[in-house]
Amino acid sequence: MTTTSTSVAALAVYPGKPGSLHQTHTELPELQADQVLVETIRVGICGTDREIIRGDLGDAPEGLDELVIGHEVLGRVVATGDAVSDLQAGDLVTSTVRRPDGCPACQAGEPDMCLWLRYEERGISKLPGFMSERWVEHRQWLIPVPAELEAIGVLIEPLTVVEKAVRQAELIQQRMKYWKMQRALVVGAGPIGLLGTLLLRSKGVEVVTIARTPAPNPAADFVEACGGTYRSVKEDSLEQIAKDAGNLDIILESSGSAKAAMDAMLVLGNNGVEVLLSLTGGHHPVELPADRINTSLVIGNKVAVGSVNAGAVDFENAVKSLGEFEKRWPGLTQQLITARLKFGPDLDLEAIKTKSSSEIKTVIEFG
Ligand code: BGC
Repeated sequence: MTTTSTSVAALAVYPGKPGSLHQTHTELPELQADQVLVETIRVGICGTDREIIRGDLGDAPEGLDELVIGHEVLGRVVATGDAVSDLQAGDLVTSTVRRPDGCPACQAGEPDMCLWLRYEERGISKLPGFMSERWVEHRQWLIPVPAELEAIGVLIEPLTVVEKAVRQAELIQQRMKYWKMQRALVVGAGPIGLLGTLLLRSKGVEVVTIARTPAPNPAADFVEACGGTYRSVKEDSLEQIAKDAGNLDIILESSGSAKAAMDAMLVLGNNGVEVLLSLTGGHHPVELPADRINTSLVIGNKVAVGSVNAGAVDFENAVKSLGEFEKRWPGLTQQLITARLKFGPDLDLEAIKTKSSSEIKTVIEFG
């Protein structure tokens, strides 16, 4: 089936220009045989979007000055190209963000491991994002989402970040004859940290999640509701928290602080793995106990590894995990969505630009 080009309302920035977030219109391309036309249900806002809005990140598509933002999406299929037989109008979908370049890793099917870093990412770098009423995508980049996950499917993309992190850790830890993921520290209680907490808890891991703000607060309630322990580094030292937790087999670092990421290496358990997930823009030199960190990594056979974006397998796993979260803790995952803004002429742009103190995840509702 083909459709004629239409103009749809969208939200965009002029990359590199701070505060340039604005409403705009964008032309939908003609639907090709292998493509799908999708209407947006909701889009999540994350730290990366806010970096783009601040002008610190983001590239417009070739020949354009505007970048439509948005990379955490849940949509509904409107129409499919003639060559698409496994999706129908009404089906729910999300989409992977990154598109491969010519590097060998991308060609092997892992654009999230791009060697040359010349990939394109929807809503981030050189490809329009999903913050528009409708969008068109090739079938191969779409991930079907079961109808029963409609309320939380928008969290699939951020969940893939921790799915990949845990998958990487498990792969790396095959370096040893014995390793068991029993105890975890999650550094940071934003959406990534809380989704990481949930994922590790669903795998039966004992989890301590740390953040600055002392409990009670919504993030602490969330951690406790899935059987984790929430501790504030304002109330106790990192060393004390780690000592109470026992040998930490894995650390997921999502605090957004480079110092916190480095400090965590000191409390990582022997033979443990720390996965670094924070993009820390800026150039802020900090003082670190480099000798102690180095010695502790060497003596303890520890690994620190960076991880970004996610592969198709992580999207598939995230869909399965969301289903498991719902079975085990009905309604809990949805509590991560703490604010909903309505897309339209009256959309509150200020609420998108700045994170409020009580916010975990803000989404924009379409339709
Ligand atoms: C997104 C990733 C992306 C990364 C860097 C994150 O917010 O979730 O998909 O690769 O930013 O651009």
